[in-house]
Amino acid sequence: MHEMGVVLNIVRTAQEAAKANHVAKIGRLTLQVGELTGVIPKYVHACWPAAIEHTILEGANLVIEEIEGIATCKDCGCDYSVLENMNADQPVCPTCGSKQWKVKTGREVMIKDIGVIDD
Ligand SMILES: [Zn+2]
Repeated sequence: MHEMGVVLNIVRTAQEAAKANHVAKIGRLTLQVGELTGVIPKYVHACWPAAIEHTILEGANLVIEEIEGIATCKDCGCDYSVLENMNADQPVCPTCGSKQWKVKTGREVMIKDIGVIDD
């Protein structure tokens, strides 16, 4: 489980962004988590309270949006869901049967937006 490291990284990034924008308190953070990252949203939620303690994010709500893992077939060019087309540990193109693919989405953990509290 590497969620704690991921969460600490996110918190650090959010703090730096807040500092650069002269924000004193963050009330909400929306995170996008790709389903191919291996990061489990409920574990991120579990790590969140400890990670934000004594930071400007303390008490902030965490919203997680999951991003579907999409691959692009290198042979026919179509996009398909990686997890729905797995065959023996690797995705297979549902259109042409090719095993050549590259990730289009789903390998990212990104801050989508940060809600600021003004006072
Ligand atoms: Zn294909």
